[in-house]
Amino acid sequence: MSALPRVGIGVDVHAFADAGSGRELWVGGIRWPDQVGLEGHSDADVACHAACDALFSAAGIGDLGVHFGTDRPELAGASGLALLAEAARLVRAAGYEIGNVSVQVVGNRPKIGTRRDEAQRVMSEACGAPVTLSGTTTDGLGLTGRGEGAAAIATALVVSAG
Ligand SMILES: [Zn+2]
Repeated sequence: MSALPRVGIGVDVHAFADAGSGRELWVGGIRWPDQVGLEGHSDADVACHAACDALFSAAGIGDLGVHFGTDRPELAGASGLALLAEAARLVRAAGYEIGNVSVQVVGNRPKIGTRRDEAQRVMSEACGAPVTLSGTTTDGLGLTGRGEGAAAIATALVVSAG
């Protein structure tokens, strides 16, 4: 039974910063120039954060708060890509191979499709496994539809390396 694949799920949401805040927008491990960024202690990369949680969930080793909490001050302000690389390392250290990670970004912007290949490439490199990225909107409804923030949902598949 241990050889069966395991799936995990992760969700992340951040609010957009005020227009004059100077916050950079980072989603999918890449910077989106000339766009107001998302609020957060880190770079607020919803795609990378959701991917991390999906990996932790699949391996059954807790969540973002457990691994990247305030007891690891060296991770304060870490980029989403750095967190994703660390999450992948922790999952492998727990005895799992990573099959793939699939992430969907929910929001009016950024338009993922315009730079999908670039984002998938850097996230896959950080993860050491294929990461795919898609985007969708919510027909003007909810916090993402009103443009108040962006969200991401992710799934991950891992297999016991043992
Ligand atoms: Zn986050």
